[in-house]
Amino acid sequence: MKITVVGAGISGLTAARICKDAGHDVTVFETKGFIGGACAIDEDNNPRFGAHILHTNNRMVWEFIAKYCSIKKYDHYVIARTDAGEVPVPFNYWSELLIGKKTDEELLNLIFRHYTMRQWGISYDDLPEDTRKRVKVRRGGTDCRYFTDLYQGIPDYKQLFTNLRKDIDVLTGVAGGDWRNNDAELVFYSGCISDFSTDECLQYRTCDFEESKITTHCPVLNNCTSWTNERWTRIHNFRSMGIGSKSMMETPRPCKYGEMRLYPLTVDEKQVNKYNQLMRDLPIHCIPIGRVAKYLYLDMDDAIYSTMILVNSSIK
Ligand SMILES: Cc1cc2nc3c(=O)[nH]c(=O)nc-3n(C[C@H](O)[C@H](O)[C@H](O)COP(=O)(O)OP(=O)(O)OC[C@H]3O[C@@H](n4cnc5c(N)ncnc54)[C@H](O)[C@@H]3O)c2cc1C
Repeated sequence: MKITVVGAGISGLTAARICKDAGHDVTVFETKGFIGGACAIDEDNNPRFGAHILHTNNRMVWEFIAKYCSIKKYDHYVIARTDAGEVPVPFNYWSELLIGKKTDEELLNLIFRHYTMRQWGISYDDLPEDTRKRVKVRRGGTDCRYFTDLYQGIPDYKQLFTNLRKDIDVLTGVAGGDWRNNDAELVFYSGCISDFSTDECLQYRTCDFEESKITTHCPVLNNCTSWTNERWTRIHNFRSMGIGSKSMMETPRPCKYGEMRLYPLTVDEKQVNKYNQLMRDLPIHCIPIGRVAKYLYLDMDDAIYSTMILVNSSIK
């Protein structure tokens, strides 16, 4: 079967690999001049859009990625810069030793409220429940790691992308509508589905990434303070993670048309209804995959797993 994959992020490349291995004729279209989407790396192996740690309890996903690249063993640590000082998050035994006992409400004020405003441009209380639940307010015990999943590490992305795209035509730097000329029987689509309409109605956040002026020794420093007007949310110190050489500052802002859609902002029912309407208007042979097209705040493992399931059931 002739299959088009739109987008060469982790979802698109996963879809392309599965289809190719099943014997189909696959072409991938990518508007950017590079592949990898939000997980892309630059020429010096530094992540372009923030560190991407693979953390999952899903063995199938872990084994899928491990088949195509080596995965460096890595446990992730995050420090929050707060009004009371710098503390490990989620707030745990060690954080309490540093700044004393705190109620949940105090922790929300110290760690979550100002960060949320910078990240999403809305208040913590207006965040959807599932977004709020992603980071625990506190964690009992002495485990200081940010993630507690069974499998954790950093894939060798260069190797991963090279092997996932092996023997597949991947066209980069194309125009957003070029894939339509390929006349495929089936399309796996990882772009934004509002591109099928004339109305850019779904909201996303994008980020500016720049070399950090602030030095930090921890892998990630979160900006949770109330006293600064600086809008950055995180500093990713790639050197301390053993990948790349840079320290990168991440500053979120609303996403304009044509920019990299990094975080779906599904805050109100109106957005969800618009998404559902767009889904109903989608051509029958187009199947949305991944974080942007499904308009869900998916981590890599969920993006990969949902793509595996959808693709396998569609090409049967
Ligand atoms: C700063 C940041 C840090 C993150 N850190 C982690 C982490 O540590 N661990 C983790 O598990 N997850 C992390 N994530 C989430 C992770 O990035 C996503 O789950 C994953 O990258 C989603 O991949 P995707 O392929 O679905 O989407 P994307 O990576 O967004 O790929 C979509 C691709 O489609 C292309 N495209 C769009 N429209 C078109 C079109 N019309 N024609 C051709 N191409 C098109 C885009 O250019 C893009 O390359 C992070 C996300 C961000 C923003």
